[in-house]
Amino acid sequence: MRKSILLITAAIAVAGLIVWAASDRHTYAKGGGKAEMINIFNAETGQVEKVKPVRKTDEEWKKLLTPEQFEVTRLKGTEAPFVNTCSVPAHGKVGIYKCVGCGTDLFKYDKKFESGTGWPSFWQPVSDLNAKYESDNSLGRQRTEVLCARCGAHLGHVFDDGPPPTGKRYCINSVALKLVEANARAKSEKATFAAGCFWGIEASFRQLLSKGVLSTRVGYTGGHAKNPTYEDVCSHTTGHAEAVEVTYDPSKISYSDLLKVFWEIHDPTTYHRQGPDVGSQYRSAIFYHTPEQRRLAEESKAELEKSKRFKDKIVTEIGPAAEFYPAEEYHQRYYEKSGREPACAVRLGS
Ligand SMILES: [Zn+2]
Repeated sequence: MRKSILLITAAIAVAGLIVWAASDRHTYAKGGGKAEMINIFNAETGQVEKVKPVRKTDEEWKKLLTPEQFEVTRLKGTEAPFVNTCSVPAHGKVGIYKCVGCGTDLFKYDKKFESGTGWPSFWQPVSDLNAKYESDNSLGRQRTEVLCARCGAHLGHVFDDGPPPTGKRYCINSVALKLVEANARAKSEKATFAAGCFWGIEASFRQLLSKGVLSTRVGYTGGHAKNPTYEDVCSHTTGHAEAVEVTYDPSKISYSDLLKVFWEIHDPTTYHRQGPDVGSQYRSAIFYHTPEQRRLAEESKAELEKSKRFKDKIVTEIGPAAEFYPAEEYHQRYYEKSGREPACAVRLGS
């Protein structure tokens, strides 16, 4: 598979210029300085808050946690299935499961489902700001580990066999969680864009995690085949585009702001192509979820056309959002997990 190096590198550079794209999360990732702070989403208020990462020695953790909590969260253990019960909120209450180590909001009760595995299962965290993902190659297979972004507690793993709407199964140890009943007020909406290789496009939108973007996922949409795989999409027979679905809080970031990013990070004038990546899966497209999104998308395209920023005609398709098929887990948050800088320079398979 071909991946555009120059275009996406340039795109990320442009995205980086957007003032509110600067995020303290990057400082944290690099080790940070004295005033090291990270952004964490408060599921009750819907606000992003700057907090200090929580770091403790094993001895300190042992004083705070039960032996089983310590074993699971600090030593990456796994509790026995079907043994521990996960508390549920009282009827009519909103339940938020927090990190047992540091109290960070992790999952909401309304995103919990019965998977039959014997471990609490969720299809979405409260925000990707609060969860960290790492590749885990133990047990002789590739899995994605889920950790608390604030204290690094091991929580569990995320798999591709969850229910709609995300298709994800966050398989979490119940001892890593503590339930708090709250009155959550946060709202969310979805936006879906296609603009070439989805690794780099997702990385660009994830720079806005502290600015109102709650989570992202990459997938395939706009085609005709059901449940396509990456290979199906690359065979150019399914009609799907590589796309990014952005879940955002409209009171923090507007759809127009997301459209601005979309127009900045790719070339909307090349038909079925981004740089060297050629094929309908690399087409430029906006999939609107509401009539209002449609109006804003069409207006922004017309304005861009009028501004003559691009010499050539804008070929971006604007159409209704159709079923979104999440891509395989190894494509999700690709650059964060691989530790590489966002540049779609990697060639996978053939
Ligand atoms: Zn934590």
